[in-house]
Amino acid sequence: MRRSRIALVAAAAATALLFAGCAGDAGTPGDDGAEPSVEEAPEFEEGTTMAALAEAGTVTVGTKFDQPLFGLVGPDGVPVGFDVEIAKIIAGELGIAPEDIEWVETVSANREPFIENGQVDFVVATYTINDERKEVVDFAGPYFEAGQSILVLADNEDITSEDDLVGQPVCSVTGSTPAQNLRDLGANVIETDTYSNCLQPLREGEAVAVSTDNVILAGLVDQNPGEFKVVGEPFTEEPYGIGVMLGDDDFRSWINDVLEQSYEDGSYEAAWDATAGTVLEFREPPAVDRY
Ligand code: GLU
Repeated sequence: MRRSRIALVAAAAATALLFAGCAGDAGTPGDDGAEPSVEEAPEFEEGTTMAALAEAGTVTVGTKFDQPLFGLVGPDGVPVGFDVEIAKIIAGELGIAPEDIEWVETVSANREPFIENGQVDFVVATYTINDERKEVVDFAGPYFEAGQSILVLADNEDITSEDDLVGQPVCSVTGSTPAQNLRDLGANVIETDTYSNCLQPLREGEAVAVSTDNVILAGLVDQNPGEFKVVGEPFTEEPYGIGVMLGDDDFRSWINDVLEQSYEDGSYEAAWDATAGTVLEFREPPAVDRY
């Protein structure tokens, strides 16, 4: 079953948005009894970030709070989504249970400063790895490959690709790679702080489109049935990484080990299936980049 699904995915354009056809609320692996495992008293070399966090028994994680499928705070105030589950897998390997994670909202523009000044221990937040960001933070991963796409009102027939955005008012988020890509493209970028805040300008016609990563847009479509649609093919590569303090090579390398282990032991796929996988097809994770 899984094999044929993967073959199907491979056959489709690698960048296409792939709907699993079973729209619904993204839950957590806990919904089906598959919470990520929590190591008992793991041991780490003294002086490492891993040792300090394991000793503290708590970790502060930056994630998105308004992005369905990846990081969305529910009525109980606790975020759910694929990024949230990835963070739980990492915390579990530190011996830290989900309830001992302190979640902090990181919007696109404050991810680097929050890491730099220690407000968070790491960030899992639809966070594209790129050279500019690597000047100020380091990245484990990538653990997922997204691509920038376009969201319009469901009845819009005028916009079918990024070429149609040139000179047009398009909403995106300050500090994000899509906002910069849109400027490079010649769009007239309307910037706000979060993607959910782009929806009202789109509804009111102030913006003709919202543009960011395909998987974020898929979450917004799923959250607002019948109102929006994603058009065109993804036109950038957005490899998602886990942001850590610049120069903390031990921690980065250890998170890469944890990611690779999660690909092997099925916990990555379980995390996907319980969250983004309720709407999007599973794709094999990209190889981690131990730069
Ligand atoms: N992945 C892109 C970025 O890191 C867009 C998504 C976001 O803003 O979180 O800038």
